[in-house]
Amino acid sequence: MNKLARGWLRGVRTVAVGMALAWATSGPNVAGAAPAGNLRLYILDCGTIAPMDPALFNVKPTEIKGDVHFVTPCYLIVHPRGTLIWDVGQVPDRDIPDDGTEVVQQRILKATRRLAPQLAALGYRPKDITYLAMSHYHADHTANANMFAASTWIVQQAEYDAMFSEAPVGIRMPDSYRDLKNARRITLNNEDHDVFGDGTVVIKTAPGHTPGHQMLFLKLKKFGPLLLAGDLYHLPEERTLDRVPTFDFDAAMTRATRKKVAEFVRQSGATVWIQHDPATNAPLKKAPQYYE
Ligand SMILES: [Zn+2]
Repeated sequence: MNKLARGWLRGVRTVAVGMALAWATSGPNVAGAAPAGNLRLYILDCGTIAPMDPALFNVKPTEIKGDVHFVTPCYLIVHPRGTLIWDVGQVPDRDIPDDGTEVVQQRILKATRRLAPQLAALGYRPKDITYLAMSHYHADHTANANMFAASTWIVQQAEYDAMFSEAPVGIRMPDSYRDLKNARRITLNNEDHDVFGDGTVVIKTAPGHTPGHQMLFLKLKKFGPLLLAGDLYHLPEERTLDRVPTFDFDAAMTRATRKKVAEFVRQSGATVWIQHDPATNAPLKKAPQYYE
């Protein structure tokens, strides 16, 4: 069992104390909502996912380090021309007491902190956010989507169709995004999209995990090029051992996308963050700190 899992087992009290400390130290350093000079990336805490069966990801327990548990970050991107929220959590804010108590939904989706107060601490209200984009429609990425119905939603057509399909579609939480159906949106046809027109924030099409799965590429001045890979991979071992999760929409499509992405990463020199990977996420700066 790794450090993070042990941390969870220590219980809610530790989490609450940690949060209190985080809040206490965040006060005077909180950035205002004024447009930042440089592009900024904030990492927000949208929960964790309890250990799952490695077989779901086509790996054997002996092939991985520790168990298969995840973190679920949300991300706020602040650009001089506007803001973008990337992925919006797995437990809706209204179900989280936000007093340090951990909520568990669907047996494995856990959260202790609401998203809206995390944005407020940075000086933003959900209705101020210019753009909403999610890597894909799975329930651990859409929980607070309705909160951003006033934003312009950037979505691939294939994803939109799956989200609002009458047919049964797995791992979907349609209530969490029902207000987006008629929201202002930019619909993409399996294509990339330069969000602010200067090449620093680019939605990258990456179908396979879901029909319209996408990633986010950032050109950060100090940090350098960065790819938030969505769920192109969940475990680093999917990448090193060439495994595709059992629940991907189209495994062959995932493999083709991964090949293209590997080439893009080679050419751009981008750092790749596997969003759900606890080892990737643990050492990263969390809001109110930021990358620029
Ligand atoms: Zn996910």
